[in-house]
Amino acid sequence: MLNRKLIFLSTPHMSGREMLYIEDAFRKNQIFPNGANVEAFAEDLKRITGVGYVSCLSSGTAAIHLALIILGVEQGDEVICSSFTFSASANPIVYQKALPVFIDSEPSTWNLNPAILEEAIKDRIKNGKKPKAIIAVDLYGMPARLDEIMEIANRYEIPVIEDAAEAIGSKFNNQPCGTFGEIGILSFNGNKAITTSAGGAFISNNEEYCKQAYFLSTQARDDYPHYEHTEIGYNYRMSNICAAIGRGQMDVFEERISKRRENFFFYKEALKDIDSITFLEEPDDRFYSNHWLTTILIDPKKTNGDTPEQIRKKLEKLNIETRSLWKPMHLQPVFKDCPAYVDGTSERMFNIGLCLPSSTCITDAERQFVADSLHDLILK
Ligand SMILES: *Cc1c(COP(=O)(O)O)cnc(C)c1O
Repeated sequence: MLNRKLIFLSTPHMSGREMLYIEDAFRKNQIFPNGANVEAFAEDLKRITGVGYVSCLSSGTAAIHLALIILGVEQGDEVICSSFTFSASANPIVYQKALPVFIDSEPSTWNLNPAILEEAIKDRIKNGKKPKAIIAVDLYGMPARLDEIMEIANRYEIPVIEDAAEAIGSKFNNQPCGTFGEIGILSFNGNKAITTSAGGAFISNNEEYCKQAYFLSTQARDDYPHYEHTEIGYNYRMSNICAAIGRGQMDVFEERISKRRENFFFYKEALKDIDSITFLEEPDDRFYSNHWLTTILIDPKKTNGDTPEQIRKKLEKLNIETRSLWKPMHLQPVFKDCPAYVDGTSERMFNIGLCLPSSTCITDAERQFVADSLHDLILK
């Protein structure tokens, strides 16, 4: 038991086809940013999201940064952001010297609470500043209440950036996540459902926005034979080698998403007799989550006193990697002075939540061991 191999939270899972694309790039000496694999990977992403334009970038964070620049976010502006998220959703707001305004979650999707969103927009307008953009996150792959969020955003004419970094393959009303706002972003970091080792994408149906993203990501180089610049640019391009990995991943895209979902259904069934555990579940059939990570809430009152953190430590001793939920941004020291509209929902989730091992390469025996260990720890 002690020598049992570590069961990871979410680890890269290669299809085996990545090397074919990498070797092709090596044979042609295309060892640089952009290039044929990047173009082909962008086509793959267009196909699965149905979006018109894609700009592949070095990270999801870079994509959010460019989205804010393109929407004109500048020093002193305010940008609304879901509080329950990874810091990468909010950091680029500060890169622009703008102010993040955090909004709490609603309990069924763990994402932006539309009622609080509207209340915050009204309040910011009353204080004299209309938010420049809304960053709506689809956390753990669960689509936000995108119909209500878009209705509010459209009514107040505030553009939405959909942070679908964790939600590739997820859908709301049959529409792929990442395509609801003016701009969507995806991440291909090593822990995400589809990886390029590191990488991201800026996606939009607005051709001009995507051209801008490409331009800014290549040091804002103007169209001259020499290097001419009229704007400050960035080096946010995706490497042609990273894109080769992405192409190998996209060859098994459907399998990877089904396996993430299957992990969720496995845990739900295997843990159904533990009444202290509840899952982040699709609230109704309009929601289709990729279930990037299977996440649970554990009611400490029903677990003979163990908190999720104690359970996490005990699982760690069994070589099972679990992790607490994202700590909400309004509770982060670095954002403590930012305005926040909260009702305690995300804080409560953070205090009692846990992410379970959700890799697509997890074996049936490993999943069963995780479930059995939870039984032992909680029901004993
Ligand atoms: C991973 C992630 C990002 C950032 O993506 P990177 O590619 O790591 O820069 C942004 N938002 C959320 C919600 C994420 O999980």
